[in-house]
Amino acid sequence: MEYVLQSERKFPAGKYDVIICGGGTSGVFAAIAAARKGVKTALVESKGYVGGIAAEGGCGLHSFYNLWKAFPGTEKRKVVRGLPEEMINRLTALHGASGHNETLMNYGYDSDTLCVDVEVYKYVAMQMLHEEGVDIYVNTMVAEVLTEGSRITGVVIVNHQGSQVLLTKMVIDSTGYGDVCARAGADYTEPNDYAVANSMGIGGIDIDKYYQFLKKNDALKEYALGPRSGRDGQIIRVDGNWNKLDSNFGKKAAELGMHTVTTTLHDNYFMFIKLNYHMPVSPTDVKELSAAEFELRRRQFEALKLLKEVIPGSENAFIARTSPAVTIRRARCISCDYDISNEEVINGVHFSDDVFSYGFHDEAPHFQVKNGETYGFPYRAMLVKNMENLFAVGMMVTSDHHAHMSTRNTVSCMAQGQAAGTAAALCVKLKKDNVRDLPYKELYATLKADNVWFDQDRQ
Ligand SMILES: Cc1cc2nc3c(=O)[nH]c(=O)nc-3n(C[C@H](O)[C@H](O)[C@H](O)COP(=O)(O)OP(=O)(O)OC[C@H]3O[C@@H](n4cnc5c(N)ncnc54)[C@H](O)[C@@H]3O)c2cc1C
Repeated sequence: MEYVLQSERKFPAGKYDVIICGGGTSGVFAAIAAARKGVKTALVESKGYVGGIAAEGGCGLHSFYNLWKAFPGTEKRKVVRGLPEEMINRLTALHGASGHNETLMNYGYDSDTLCVDVEVYKYVAMQMLHEEGVDIYVNTMVAEVLTEGSRITGVVIVNHQGSQVLLTKMVIDSTGYGDVCARAGADYTEPNDYAVANSMGIGGIDIDKYYQFLKKNDALKEYALGPRSGRDGQIIRVDGNWNKLDSNFGKKAAELGMHTVTTTLHDNYFMFIKLNYHMPVSPTDVKELSAAEFELRRRQFEALKLLKEVIPGSENAFIARTSPAVTIRRARCISCDYDISNEEVINGVHFSDDVFSYGFHDEAPHFQVKNGETYGFPYRAMLVKNMENLFAVGMMVTSDHHAHMSTRNTVSCMAQGQAAGTAAALCVKLKKDNVRDLPYKELYATLKADNVWFDQDRQ
């Protein structure tokens, strides 16, 4: 590797109170929450739209509810509310989400089925940011950070206009990759403990036929009913046990890293079929990431062939949508003041500085939050160690793999975003330079007034 020394350069600079780096699942909610508190907020997103993996990879949004069906007799509770709930209500009103539907099989995994139309999601997310007056920088990458001791004073952004600096009081890293934390010199690990993926949408394929076929062959694993193409009570989520169909199909699907679950809100369309690939190294390695992009596109075409072979009437199926880039389940894991453990998750522990409650675990029924309860997500778990004004949210927090199988899920990331955006804005308004000096009771009262549900407070 050769190195090049760059001479001093002059950049145009903007000034903000709060900058959110990464306009994905968590970042959108952080930006809306901060701007609603009246502080000057910027959101920087490398793609041309916002929404991140919520609009690219995830089949169902897990989960606004506790696992009420898995534990008969348990009270059914909507345990995530606030801004995420507001967004889902808006999406549902536009037929861009299914609303909440009872899972009818395999409800030990999730009792609630909520599917979104990813294109409506992208539009509504951006609309909400505009309404709050967030300065949106899309097609813009956060490339570097400026620091003074343990503070970030600004970020260097790069887009078609070149490089600019945005100066700021508070920073939220919601890049998924943890780019900002890494540039700022924060501690992190790169566990490489998940496959990366590219989820595709398939047109010309019928979810009713998929359901009937699985049922007839005694291979139905999961399903839910909800609104589809203007009619209620339709199949919107299905999964099958392909090994039961024919061990060869199961083997081929496994080789392709294909998840056989799909969701949809439209006739003749599978919104998601996930293809997975475990990279030899962490996805921050750009050479290997480029190889993964190609490998996943190859797998998509092989998977389409297999689906056409298996699902009746799908001879003319085609790939209608893919994610513009590999989606990851984690890259860097950022060291924060508190690191929640799986024991705490499954035992439903709440903390003295909870910022929201959550009850879903992706490894259910093996790991579930006991008795259909919830655990609390502590404020400290998103404060980047040894940094004064930096939050980390979304998939990049929680080192314990099993605990991460809960905290990384969409609805948790959304709620983390609201909490961090609110906290950052309060720090600015209360003139707290260090995020640890924010009085928790102010944060709690503000989140509660903004309709965040604290499950342990219920009567
Ligand atoms: C394939 C797949 C399937 C999943 N399925 C489900 C599911 O069915 N249900 C569920 O609940 N969860 C699911 N998850 C998990 C969940 O969706 C994610 O963990 C969560 O959405 C991550 O949110 P995030 O905000 O951390 O990251 P993201 O949503 O990825 O947001 C990060 C954003 O930052 C941007 N960005 C990155 N670097 C920079 C930079 N340097 N400068 C500017 N912008 C940058 C990215 O473009 C992106 O928009 C799935 C995850 C994957 C990968």
